[in-house]
Amino acid sequence: MNALYQNPHEARLLFGRGFRAGMDRREQKKLAAKNEKETRDEIRKKDGLEEKPEEAAAQKIKEEAADSYDTFDMRVDRHWTEKKLEEMTERDWRIFREDFNISYKGSKIPRPMRSWAESKLTLELLKAVERAGYKTPSPIQMAAIPLGLQQRDVIGVAETGSGKTAAFVLPMLTYITRLPPMSEENEAEGPYAVVMAPTRELAQQIEDETVKFAHYLGIKVVSIVGGQSIEEQGFKIRQGCEVVIATPGRLIDCLERRYAVLNQCNYVVLDEADRMIDMGFEPQVMGVLDAMPSSNLKPENEDEELDEKKIYRTTYMFSATMPPAVERLARKYLRNPVVVTIGTAGKATDLITQHVIMMKESEKMYRLHKLLDELGDKTAIVFINTKKSADGLSKALDKGGLSCDNFAWWEVTGAEGN
Ligand code: AMP
Repeated sequence: MNALYQNPHEARLLFGRGFRAGMDRREQKKLAAKNEKETRDEIRKKDGLEEKPEEAAAQKIKEEAADSYDTFDMRVDRHWTEKKLEEMTERDWRIFREDFNISYKGSKIPRPMRSWAESKLTLELLKAVERAGYKTPSPIQMAAIPLGLQQRDVIGVAETGSGKTAAFVLPMLTYITRLPPMSEENEAEGPYAVVMAPTRELAQQIEDETVKFAHYLGIKVVSIVGGQSIEEQGFKIRQGCEVVIATPGRLIDCLERRYAVLNQCNYVVLDEADRMIDMGFEPQVMGVLDAMPSSNLKPENEDEELDEKKIYRTTYMFSATMPPAVERLARKYLRNPVVVTIGTAGKATDLITQHVIMMKESEKMYRLHKLLDELGDKTAIVFINTKKSADGLSKALDKGGLSCDNFAWWEVTGAEGN
């Protein structure tokens, strides 16, 4: 009813500065141009002036710009799926990476591939991919295949089931097709590529996935795992094969007994590296890597450009976690690697149920005791914020009949703890 509110003030977005969110930008731009014209007309009328030709021309340009604004802006704002590769902006790539949960660490990282058609795989391999029924690449494939094709070293953090096998197999096969075919002349020098996996079962799965693509290219794959005759496996390698898939223990055995050599192997994959280390295979893995020629290692200096025509040793490492031993391996054998992570870090939260229990300070001790009692034979770790509270708590738990170690001194000594 108040006259003050009868004509609410509308912010006038003049001179093309600013927009209101959520409304058609072109309409707003046109309205702004119209408002500007009206304001200028009003001022001129008040001053009794005529519109100058240059003013009229400038105004016309503005109106036209407002008209064509839509086409320009919509092009910028289209979703990346509707854009050609050359239209992709930095922002589109960022959204693309977010959409597929891809994150990278490293320098000079090539763009991920959005589709098989945009990958730089050979036609033959693309056909094999089609025959395998892989319609779209999985995120780890999108990120890791372009890296492998550039002979970059890769540390992949992705789970089994993510398609990581094809992510290293396809660049590996591409690499092999660039080399002279295996013949009587070079088959005694050993395979061109080696894949190491912690268990026989995983090696078997990798072999299946590799053969799926390799047989179209006439590339031979041999697996070297325990439980089969080592002589026979050595014989198969000497007969000529491009790819060896092995468990590290059996492979080092084969090498030490001179059943096989790795004189021309420059492509190596360590699958589930953390598990191999857990199973105590670190010396064997290192033994195999040391048996490969070192003359093709990439330059230590990260800034040095790689020569596309040259053959470099390429190392792929997949690991779900990065314990110190895996990092040691990576530091020693990988050169300027790119770390590709698929999914969110701290995956453990999927495996751990977390409970937050709200309660009064006075109830805490009783509740903790109850929780620990319920554990039975199992052990528990209790975190607490100060050394003093840790001392008090461990004494109280001890008194209550729970055997308890107090590690609060770590905080004081600054020891690097696990
Ligand atoms: P992996 O994580 O390598 O053990 O692969 C898990 C399964 O996914 C395997 O059976 C593959 O054959 C399959 N796979 C891998 N990549 C693709 C893809 N791009 N499209 C459909 N299936 C795939």
